[in-house]
Amino acid sequence: MLMKQFRHKTLEERAAEYGGKLSADGEFDYGEPVGREIWCCVDASECRLCPRNCGADRRKKAEPGIFSRGHGSNAYGFCGESSTIRISRAALHMWEEPVVSGTCGSGTVFFTGCNLRCIFCQNAAISEGGNGREVTPEELADTFFSLRDQGAHNINLVTPTHFVPGICDAIRIAKDRGFALPFVYNTSGYESVETLRMLDGLIDVYLPDFKYMDEKKARNYSNAPDYPEVAKTAIAEMFRQVGMPLVESQNPDHYKGEIMKTVTENENPDINGELHLIKRGVIVRHLVLPLGVKNACAVIDYLTETYGDSIYISIMNQYTPLYDVPGALRPEQRKRLEPYAELHRKVTKREYERVIDHCLELGLTNVFVQEDDASGANFIPAWDE
Ligand code: SF4
Repeated sequence: MLMKQFRHKTLEERAAEYGGKLSADGEFDYGEPVGREIWCCVDASECRLCPRNCGADRRKKAEPGIFSRGHGSNAYGFCGESSTIRISRAALHMWEEPVVSGTCGSGTVFFTGCNLRCIFCQNAAISEGGNGREVTPEELADTFFSLRDQGAHNINLVTPTHFVPGICDAIRIAKDRGFALPFVYNTSGYESVETLRMLDGLIDVYLPDFKYMDEKKARNYSNAPDYPEVAKTAIAEMFRQVGMPLVESQNPDHYKGEIMKTVTENENPDINGELHLIKRGVIVRHLVLPLGVKNACAVIDYLTETYGDSIYISIMNQYTPLYDVPGALRPEQRKRLEPYAELHRKVTKREYERVIDHCLELGLTNVFVQEDDASGANFIPAWDE
């Protein structure tokens, strides 16, 4: 199999290709959206696709559960994956926001591995367990068509960051074959702008998390103290690419004032008899954590001050404590989680309501919320479908 190689070009290399647009202080002037191909550059032997900046040799075959534990390792990257795409599940998914799942479901493709790997991960079986099958970009494109034929409203790429070059190839292959559904990029938010630039023009809807404004939580729970600044920059780039939300409706104003639609019941993508589906835009998710009200409100404040109602915000209430669920975690995962007793319980009703009250106090309208109890192991899908 031809190994897809990727390494970001140096600033100097890029500047040379773009006519020397390198400023005196070493910043690269990206200017207008750039041609994408040049970002799919060569050398998987030194991966710097995401802010982990490992420099890992992605030509090596991934072995389940083998990771570097920090930056700079040349063995396996923090994501634990080789450059060959692996997927754990591809199926219609009804539990996304109503504008994403619609009536028929979102065509989700869950990728194996993760570059953030939070200690409370709800999908640890794929982010750390190493489940998954290898696919070529051509086979991934075939998967998009299969999901479309099952009725998917869109293709939802879940935890895709560490496979972006191959995913770009797959999207191009699909588009060349006439594929017309929107592509949704569903990410932890821990993204580098350079990698996001590779997706410019290929992704229609960005669905990033914004997990932490609190650096301490970002360090403790995700080993990423730079997460707040990284996520801010990443979301800015996403918004630059896709801009204001475009929701398919004869009357988009129907969505105004329709906040508090439940995500968990997926009951109402059909408002006043009209199907509402997002075709373009940014939906930022925040999973409320136990003892996380202050952090959640800080995230909401930042997004509101920066974007107003130009994006959607989705406040999630589905945190599921896995610490005491038999078989949910591998021993080393339990060990990582053990010191954080607050994460061994659910988010309380009071905690979640305080976050929603904050949205109401701010007068927000472009917000999705979840019903009281959206948590539980039954909300975690089975893998390898
Ligand atoms: S994609 Fe994986 S190997 Fe590459 S920098 Fe990120 S975590 Fe490291």
